[in-house]
Amino acid sequence: MPFPEPDPQLAEALLAGHGDVAGLLAEARRVRDLAHGHTVTYSRKVFVPLTTLCRDRCTYCTFARPPGAGGEYLTPEDVLAITEAGRLARCTEALFTLGDRPEDRWPEARRFLDSRGCASTLDYVAQTARLVVEETGLLPHANPGVMSPAEMEVLRPVSPSMGLMLENSSPRLMDPGMPHHGSPDKDPAARIATIRASGRLRVPFTTGILVGIGETVTEIVDSLFVMRDLVAETGSVQEVIVQNFRAKADTPKRRDAEPTVQFFARVVAAARWILGPGVHLQVPPNLTERFEVYLDAGIDDWGGVSPLTIDWVNPEAPWPHLDELRARTEAAGFRLMPRLPVYPEYLDPEWIDPVLWPVVASAADDDGYALAPQIEGAR
Ligand code: SF4
Repeated sequence: MPFPEPDPQLAEALLAGHGDVAGLLAEARRVRDLAHGHTVTYSRKVFVPLTTLCRDRCTYCTFARPPGAGGEYLTPEDVLAITEAGRLARCTEALFTLGDRPEDRWPEARRFLDSRGCASTLDYVAQTARLVVEETGLLPHANPGVMSPAEMEVLRPVSPSMGLMLENSSPRLMDPGMPHHGSPDKDPAARIATIRASGRLRVPFTTGILVGIGETVTEIVDSLFVMRDLVAETGSVQEVIVQNFRAKADTPKRRDAEPTVQFFARVVAAARWILGPGVHLQVPPNLTERFEVYLDAGIDDWGGVSPLTIDWVNPEAPWPHLDELRARTEAAGFRLMPRLPVYPEYLDPEWIDPVLWPVVASAADDDGYALAPQIEGAR
């Protein structure tokens, strides 16, 4: 008998461990195989933490720091040093991850931006991303927080793909005592507006949910159905990340329970079931020891993995060595392929700014995967 069509009530029961959980996992694999077969991708990247200053106050975050305690901007020279090292290590993506609009909270941020002739942190992202493209050929993937359509338009000629985690669609998580209280950029409405703009502006886009930050099972399911609507409406959502919360020392949520692997695998499988075959589904491989379990839950991507730089958002969790990632993926019966920050389906002039198109197109092989750059002195 075929597995039932996606349904919120059934999804809630399955996430709670009731009913045909094995059937859900099998359905997730079946749906994944329809579009992606047994090919799993990753993006060879360097992490560029452009600024660790942020105006928000998420209670699980160790990335954001105040001025004088690690909160700072990278200089253009810093950015080029990281990305040139990435070029020599045959990386193809420069992931720009940064705090949200720090200039609205910290005078130090405003002074730094003034010294660089930038009106905003988003302008500084554009300035440094352009440098990276011109000097190294790495492709920036901008993950700078909430973006207005105008800001996205400024980034489009320097960043062929962009991203913003929805995290969760529930505004309840912004209430006092909840993880997004005091974080205006975590307003789901603002984040949904950014994701919608990516569709209108034809920007290949990454979004996702963060699981285990204090939301209910109902809110996880609601978020997945919101995401399903956004995928259908925009056409721009190339991948959805399903990320498990990891409790970090020195944060208010340091004693909170992390999602169990069994529960989280059910969320991943439900995401595939609800989102369908077309979208790429990613779980980071550095946040679970036995990460292969998610191949059995319908994923087809490991996301950005770096041979050089740490995961600045989860610094306690090293990425697996790329040889190990390949060996373990292949041992599970899959082919591991390097991809660009833009997936093969979006390698089209409709989706890439004309300024960037020659750079992006020349980085891909005939099937749209990442060409291994041939670099003298590379390791
Ligand atoms: S918006 Fe991002 S960087 Fe800022 S506090 Fe929240 S999680 Fe940290």
